[in-house]
Amino acid sequence: MCNINWIDEDLKYIWHPCSQMKDYEELKPIVIDHGKGSYLYDINGKEYIDIISSWWCNLLGHANPKINEAIKNQLDNLEHVIFANLSHKPAIKLCQELIKVVPKGLCKFNFSDNGSASVECALKMAFQYHYQTGNPQKQRFMCLSEGYHGETIGALSVGSMDLYAKIYKPMLMNAVHTSAPDCYRCPYHQNRETCKCECFVHAEEDFAKYGNELAAVIVEPLIQGSAGMRIYPPLYLEKLRKLCDEYNVLLIADEIATGFGRTGKMFAFDYTNVSPDIMTISKGLTGGYMPMAITITTQKIYDAFYADYNEGKAFMHSHTYSGNPLGCSAALAVQKILREENILAKAQDTAKYLHEKLQATFANHKNVGEIRHLGLINAIELVKDKDTKEAFDSKKRLGYQIYKNALQKGLLLRPLGDVLYFNPPLNIDKQTLDKAISICHTSINEVLNS
Ligand SMILES: *Cc1c(COP(=O)(O)O)cnc(C)c1O
Repeated sequence: MCNINWIDEDLKYIWHPCSQMKDYEELKPIVIDHGKGSYLYDINGKEYIDIISSWWCNLLGHANPKINEAIKNQLDNLEHVIFANLSHKPAIKLCQELIKVVPKGLCKFNFSDNGSASVECALKMAFQYHYQTGNPQKQRFMCLSEGYHGETIGALSVGSMDLYAKIYKPMLMNAVHTSAPDCYRCPYHQNRETCKCECFVHAEEDFAKYGNELAAVIVEPLIQGSAGMRIYPPLYLEKLRKLCDEYNVLLIADEIATGFGRTGKMFAFDYTNVSPDIMTISKGLTGGYMPMAITITTQKIYDAFYADYNEGKAFMHSHTYSGNPLGCSAALAVQKILREENILAKAQDTAKYLHEKLQATFANHKNVGEIRHLGLINAIELVKDKDTKEAFDSKKRLGYQIYKNALQKGLLLRPLGDVLYFNPPLNIDKQTLDKAISICHTSINEVLNS
């Protein structure tokens, strides 16, 4: 057993997520041995820059000594315990920390173990809230076109990306999909820095039609991640808040991707002067260490479930690994690092550097339609024609070709269609960004010129 071919063994057993496994005939799985900071190392010692934070979750680098330490300490105390009736200090302390940073009014924390589960939890909570407050007719959900909230059946129902949902349509709930802001190709010919959210008219029309039957609206605030890091202005959320209040519809903020400094502020909603009724967090919560998520809500919603047991109003929703102490310890360490090392302020500085450098490298490129950015997130949308904004034929899989090219050169990009993006750990250094930009540039040109 000394000469194990790990790649063959992988392909023998493993069905990888979100992959056409036939693609692996040509692009073999890369077997990672270890990680350090913004870098990953495969079993042959080859180095890769993890510019996408391993699917947006790694917040403070791989093998972060402080997070490692926190988990190791917790491990010797308690690995896990049933979270109904029983509790533990890491979970309690985590809530004490989070309540200081989440949008105002959010104060009750329901734990689960992945992003999709926290979305399911939010949807059920909203549904049951209305049922128990005299509005049982409020049973539907509204979401934005091109939105993404995970891939379990409920979460998929409030997502709008055909790539993930189309085949399963007969299995899904009948949600109202309202037309989302599309700032790069704005139908009103406005720009996102100065517009008045003219596109909000679609939400208004749909509320007029369906408002009375809606339980909640769910959105990815400010950045529609999976759609290609589509960025829209905070005003849209403020308008949505007002509309929700008018129609007694709950507002669910899915901050799974945008939370914990990704947008430059702690949460995307911090760019607005309003709060959601329910917020889901996961990804960066544990620094990308442990699968954990939380659905956070208000006292008002919590109170609608609070009654004598026999009234049957409890929220009968659970996950075996709810409140896992190792996850809570990692999350606590993350909060401590963010605060003590002033990470968000430093990341703002790095973000400015990154965007200016990307702008200088790509702005004049004939196939770069837009470089949109918020916080450290920067997305480069490649187009066939810059003037008409016409996309490349998706069958060409241009983004995928660039991905493969960049991997050979030691950069992990994983584009969304033809949108290449950087979403690095918040504490990435500028030299690493330089290197990533340089590889990205070379790969784009090699693929486009071939
Ligand atoms: C990743 C993501 C999810 C799903 O989280 P999983 O842990 O992958 O189930 C939901 N919503 C948004 C906005 C996400 O980015």
